[in-house]
This record gives sequence, structure tokens and C-alpha cells, in this order.
Amino acid sequence: MAKYEIKVNKKECIGCGACTVQCDNFELEDGKAHPKKSEVTELGCNKDAADVCPVGAIKITEKK
Ligand code: SF4
Repeated sequence: MAKYEIKVNKKECIGCGACTVQCDNFELEDGKAHPKKSEVTELGCNKDAADVCPVGAIKITEKK
């Protein structure tokens, strides 16, 4: 089964909160977003969060 790793580049994140609105797997802490679960088997809304991030700080990689 495919696994995906979700990462937020904290240097790029501007803390806008858009990803947290788009997907409940993201939360803000000290002005930066991070995924609650960094490894998932279904992308679901994580992809929407990555798409909506204005600075492209959310990286999704498929792990084999
Ligand atoms: Fe940070 Fe992008 Fe989330 Fe905004 S949408 S809080 S810039 S990761």
C-alpha cells in the first residue's frame, strides 16, 4: 500500500492558516503549520491543503 509523507517547510510557511481550513490534518503552532499525522495512507484533504498553500510550503512525497 502506498504511503505518503506530509511535510511543512517551516522556513517557507507564513502562518496564513489556509491549510488548516482546508484540511483537519493541519494545525498551527507558534505561527507555523504542521501536520498532525506526517504519514498517511490516503492523501485525502492533504492534497487540497498543499494546493491551497500560497507559498508552496507543503510537500507530499510518496514512499514506496
Ligand atoms: Fe503555512 Fe502554507 Fe499552511 Fe499557510 S497554507 S499556514 S503558508 S503551510
